[in-house]
Amino acid sequence: MSESEYILVTGGAGYIGSHTVIELVDNGYKPIIVDNLSNSSYDAVSRIEFIVDQHFPFFRIDLRDSSALTKIFEKYNISSVIHFAALKAVGESTKIPIDYYDNNINGTINLVKVMQKFNVKTIVFSSSATVYGDVTRFGDDRYIPIPEECPMDPTNPYGKTKYMIEQILKDVSNSDAGSDLKVAILRYFNPIGAHPSGLLGENPLGIPNNLLPYLAQVAIGKREKLSIFGNDYASHDGTPIRDYIHVIDLAKGHIAALNYLHKIGNSGLYREWNLGTGKGSTVFDVYLSFCKAVGRELPYEVVARRSGDVLDLTAKPDRANEELQWKAELGIDEACKDLWKWTTENPFGFQIDNYQWKEFSDDLNDRLHTFKIDNFKVGIINYGATIQNIQIGDQLLVCGFDNGSDYKSSSNPYFGANIGRFANRIKHGKFTLNGKKYQLSQNEGDKNCLHSGFNGFDKQNWYGPIVKFNDDKFKVDFKLIDKDGNDGFPGDLETILHYIIGYKFIEIEYESKLLNGESTIVNLTNHSYFNISNGDSIDDTEFELGTDQYLKVDDELIPTGEIASIGSAKFTLTSDKSFDNCFIVNENDDRIDTRSNELKQLVKASHKDSKITLIVSSTDPAFQLYSGDGINTDGFKKRSGFCVEPSRFLNAINQPNWSKQVILKKDETYGGKIKYEFK
Ligand code: NAD
Ligand code: UDP
Repeated sequence: MSESEYILVTGGAGYIGSHTVIELVDNGYKPIIVDNLSNSSYDAVSRIEFIVDQHFPFFRIDLRDSSALTKIFEKYNISSVIHFAALKAVGESTKIPIDYYDNNINGTINLVKVMQKFNVKTIVFSSSATVYGDVTRFGDDRYIPIPEECPMDPTNPYGKTKYMIEQILKDVSNSDAGSDLKVAILRYFNPIGAHPSGLLGENPLGIPNNLLPYLAQVAIGKREKLSIFGNDYASHDGTPIRDYIHVIDLAKGHIAALNYLHKIGNSGLYREWNLGTGKGSTVFDVYLSFCKAVGRELPYEVVARRSGDVLDLTAKPDRANEELQWKAELGIDEACKDLWKWTTENPFGFQIDNYQWKEFSDDLNDRLHTFKIDNFKVGIINYGATIQNIQIGDQLLVCGFDNGSDYKSSSNPYFGANIGRFANRIKHGKFTLNGKKYQLSQNEGDKNCLHSGFNGFDKQNWYGPIVKFNDDKFKVDFKLIDKDGNDGFPGDLETILHYIIGYKFIEIEYESKLLNGESTIVNLTNHSYFNISNGDSIDDTEFELGTDQYLKVDDELIPTGEIASIGSAKFTLTSDKSFDNCFIVNENDDRIDTRSNELKQLVKASHKDSKITLIVSSTDPAFQLYSGDGINTDGFKKRSGFCVEPSRFLNAINQPNWSKQVILKKDETYGGKIKYEFK
């Protein structure tokens, strides 16, 4: 595999595909996902990116759309394809067979044609144990467990599409043109479980047909009880036997197959492999394992057999074990535990009421996410994990643009931005750490480093968000890996930003860790411009600060070291009064992680016209108050909003008695919290 080669994953946003994409990345492959999202959600893709810490190409297209597919092959150097995309519900396939034949077979034919056109010679295909049909039909157990040689006899249209696609791929590989084609047919047994992170799993749409998805819905109270379809089979407890395989093991099987095909050189191959554990479990075995994961007995009732069910479908996985050097390692207990984590943390899968997103620029990595609780509405974009909007009813409370490109304009005064890796100014962009001198970008009049230089946290697309809703609050997580050397800062820094959005409040929690190197400097804040006036200007806003102490600065706006008083912490902002000052809340807190502090009120602001009060609190020892006199951008002028930026002391790294506030060492965590409340 060369650096520039990609693996095309069709159906990569789906249940098995999404787990496989993670394994691909973990094994050094570069995936491209193609999915029409007919049975999945882009949220799965953004969660994959959050897990693997990288963006990768995604295309929402249908495999039957030749010209769209061709464009992808033109643009990228695709070396191999893993083909998951298909409709897969057995019951549904008996009702709408034409849809199944059209989608699954025509989709595959189209894919193979485009592969041929671009000389792509390697394909791993998702087949299914359903192709074997009822293996008890032979009247004895010669095919139990089921080997790959077992004759095929699918009993429903879905299974027949898998059977036919296998035949199509075989015929192509037998043809002259396809003689060097390498085809891995993977026949899956019963995939179960979810990603151990709790971030990915099967998206539960409609009434589940499968055992574990149904049981999971019983456990969260969405369904009353499980119906066990018959307990009069010849098994140890009377219920049918299946080979349940953890989706992570299954995903790993694809990597093993791909590696195998890559290893055999240029010769062609067509070969089938069962992906199963080789160990059968009954319905009761699975039921008991899931009850153990949940921690209580779940209601069930034994009912009549389900038509089409057979006693035993257990794989003989020896061929895959030996040839692919792959073996399932996880059991049903692990799968049940992971499924339960996924279910409790995402009871509605990726669908969350009152949360929506839309594309904000022409890039899916930059989306606008909107959260609503009654008349309180918050908008956040991936670019900078920026707060784009806060609104009560029709009243807008922060400055923000309505399109992605304005955020990238040089006149954007950091609207709603999260500033990092170092908020505020660093004198001449210079500092010394562990005896080593660093020079950062000097973006303030060629002198100071302001808000981290030219490519700070605010100018990067963050991974995520991971959105959850609990206790009447949205929990929204974004992640950024700021690279070593970016704007001169040392070490790769991972930052997770947790937003908690409740009725009329937003909390921000920052959590940063150094991924390599000995130490770096960190100082994070949010730069939202508030306007609670009902009008264009913040004048006449009444302020009550949590302190009157601020840092005196020299003419380069760098602290002299002296702390002074502004006279009174209570004032009304008038046009002749402007602020760009660092106020001191706690002179003695020099910890890198302030999150264990109580939130302290920094600013209470109100306006007589709107009767809205804003309270800003934080765990950090300082805050910058800025009256927005420098605003001059599309649709916004001077003093359209004011900022309260909780942070560490201005230029803290260059003052020996303050520097500990901002030095993050290996194995430590930087942390801080901010809360905005409206009354
Ligand atoms: P899934 O529905 O979660 O994933 C399939 C993905 O393909 C979906 O994201 C869907 O939107 C996409 N898709 C469908 N038709 C498409 C088209 N024409 N163009 C583009 N995208 C399309 O299903 P899954 O469980 O992840 O299954 C993946 C594959 O594994 C399928 O081929 C399925 O038949 C096979 N399989 C699944 C199981 C199982 O129990 N889950 C068992 C055996 C085999
Ligand atoms: N099953 C059950 N109740 C359900 C769903 C499934 O008893 O609500 C049983 C079913 O009879 C089979 C096993 O669970 O023996 C697995 O069924 P599933 O539909 O999950 O997979 P299949 O093996 O049919 O593909």
